Amino acid sequence: MKEIEKEREMIRAAAAKTAQKMIQPRATEIDATGEFPLDLLDALGKQGFLSLILPEEYGGSDGDITSFCFAIEEFAKVCGSSSLLILAQGMGTLPIWLGGNSSQKELYFTQIFEKNRLTAFALTEMGGGSDIVSIKTTAKKQGRDYLLNGRKCFITHGSIAQFYSVFAVTDPKREREAISAFVVEDGTSGLGFGKREKMIGMRGSVTTDVIFENCRIPQENRLGEEDEGYQIAMRTLNMSRPAVGAQAVGIAQGALDYAIHYANERIQFKKTISSFQAIQFMIADMATQVETARSLVYQTAAQMDARIGDTEKLSAIAKCYASNAAMKVTTDAVQILGGYGYMKDYPVERMMRDAKVTQIYEEANQVLRLLVAHQLLKG
Ligand SMILES: Cc1cc2nc3c(=O)[nH]c(=O)nc-3n(C[C@H](O)[C@H](O)[C@H](O)COP(=O)(O)OP(=O)(O)OC[C@H]3O[C@@H](n4cnc5c(N)ncnc54)[C@H](O)[C@@H]3O)c2cc1C
Repeated sequence: MKEIEKEREMIRAAAAKTAQKMIQPRATEIDATGEFPLDLLDALGKQGFLSLILPEEYGGSDGDITSFCFAIEEFAKVCGSSSLLILAQGMGTLPIWLGGNSSQKELYFTQIFEKNRLTAFALTEMGGGSDIVSIKTTAKKQGRDYLLNGRKCFITHGSIAQFYSVFAVTDPKREREAISAFVVEDGTSGLGFGKREKMIGMRGSVTTDVIFENCRIPQENRLGEEDEGYQIAMRTLNMSRPAVGAQAVGIAQGALDYAIHYANERIQFKKTISSFQAIQFMIADMATQVETARSLVYQTAAQMDARIGDTEKLSAIAKCYASNAAMKVTTDAVQILGGYGYMKDYPVERMMRDAKVTQIYEEANQVLRLLVAHQLLKG
């Protein structure tokens, strides 16, 4: 086995151990109370999971997408919210990795690594969801500063992150060409937050609006050159899509494992329900979808890590397929548990609620299908 593969397997094993020992026992409670698990955040930080995507000198795996996906899949098997914590951290960090200069990387990565600083990716707005180029948050140059005004919505880690990777337009008339990326630090005057959103799934994750009211930041906080923000955002989304796929695979695997366990125990008509062919076929179909999704996700991750060709289409396909599989598999798991599946005493209904958002965020599946079709038809 090559050195890099050994390292990846070590990360997967460490994530699986943490998931089983620390996260699984807390998953039901996190979902029920909706509390953000600060103690887990601390523990995950100490184990290096908050810096997973960073360069090696900052305790990370040097942007290795396969390692990132391994950790997210393992966490998602037991708790969607906890896997989202690592995923959102990666998304907040990637724009700095992709667009930041060496002093910005030194400044932010050191704090993420040494002080468990949390990051957020702030792109979506009320009028600019799927239609990203319609974002209205402005960044007006004033001397050596920028003045940010606008409102982002649905931002994971809003109000609890220390660093926000923010996308804003310097000239509203030029739309996508004028999008620039910035880091806004918590505590900056003019940075505020909306109420915490009440969500049907991923209930331990904190999602809020992020508001900028004459929020002044120095030009040193701009990532890359002016107008490079759209590219930074697109590359971030492309690189993190396999991770959403891995999250979906993990949630689906967790539901499949539970359904198998249940089917082997539940007696009806004097037999375990797993002895009925109807249940066997459901389980076989669920496993087929999970394995297919996993193959797609890790094929995409491997291609990204090896820097082979354009991964945009494959990463969209992997995210779409895996999230649709997660929705179907978790719904079927509820079905296999019958009435018990519908009760909160069993984890599969939580998994079904958590799975739903993987079809929505990091660009909704309908929009990704447009991207795939566009790539195929343009030639
Ligand atoms: C829990 C959660 C966490 C999130 N975290 C973040 C975050 O950290 N940072 C961030 O920036 N954003 C975040 N988002 C936002 C997320 O990325 C958006 O919700 C998503 O991109 C969809 O945008 P929208 O909600 O405005 O839906 P809309 O764009 O209004 O879409 C509504 C529906 O119309 C469909 N649709 C839209 N356009 C087309 C089209 N051209 N053709 C066909 N169908 C179309 C969509 O697929 C969707 O089904 C989060 C969202 C959620 C729910």
